[in-house]
Amino acid sequence: MPNKCIEKLECTQRQMAKKIQGLPRQAANPTALTTLGWWSIRSVLLQQKLMLLWQILLLPMENIYKCIVMKRLIEYHHSDQSSMIYAASGPVALMYEAAKTINVHTTVVRSIRDGVYMHKAQWKALVKNNIQIRENSLFLASCLLYPRLNLYRSICIDICMWPWWGYCLMNPRDTPKCRTMLRLVVGESSLNRSLDGNEVVVRPICELCGVGSPLTPHHVLFNCDMLREIRTPLLYNVANSAPSALWECMESMSSVNKTEFILSGFRCKYMHEWYELYQQVLNFVVSMLNCSLLKLRNLVN
Ligand SMILES: [Zn+2]
Repeated sequence: MPNKCIEKLECTQRQMAKKIQGLPRQAANPTALTTLGWWSIRSVLLQQKLMLLWQILLLPMENIYKCIVMKRLIEYHHSDQSSMIYAASGPVALMYEAAKTINVHTTVVRSIRDGVYMHKAQWKALVKNNIQIRENSLFLASCLLYPRLNLYRSICIDICMWPWWGYCLMNPRDTPKCRTMLRLVVGESSLNRSLDGNEVVVRPICELCGVGSPLTPHHVLFNCDMLREIRTPLLYNVANSAPSALWECMESMSSVNKTEFILSGFRCKYMHEWYELYQQVLNFVVSMLNCSLLKLRNLVN
């Protein structure tokens, strides 16, 4: 498939992912797929090419397709990139390129040389693992281009479904609240930036407490004195629904770490046993955010 077509498909994929998660179109591209646990189209194609290659290599020795593929792969492996042979863009060359991209080409050549091929399931696990490593490093590298994604990067350290989406599958009514929380994580919430008519209003400092603290998620959730009244009963509900060890662990954290911990869904996959805890934490985050926005608006008016 030509590169241009893949780019178009990836663009559509990102827009779909943003729409599903309630992110604005202008949200930074690295935020689109990670929290859904999706790979890019390029990586999906990479996996399919490599699975097809292995299926051919697992055919009987006398199979003509296997013979051609083996001969070509060995040729490509022993030629350098500038040679005419390597420049061929046939299906086998593309499969070899795919194997090189995720560093499994030597495994392929060694298997051909020894005549010993691992089971298809084992090959699939190896390919998936290497693609996942590549996707993770590409994701982290692209996040570096966007300073506002610092919080997002510390929360999503791996490409897998955000636990809060797991919670939404159990309780779809809370999807709008989870979307609000994700917008806060990716720096697209109206906390720091909002539209006043056609004008973008930027609030770098918290005007509520007036001590010059930056208006960050952790300041609103845990530090701002002017929000103490609403914070205390909400946190009381969170404490009541949390396992005592988890709550004690949270209590000992700094406000920055605590914020990252709860927004990441407690740094683990969705646990149905904590259903009530997710509910109370979501209620806490969204209520704090809405209350601070309301107070800020009242302050301006
Ligand atoms: Zn404040």
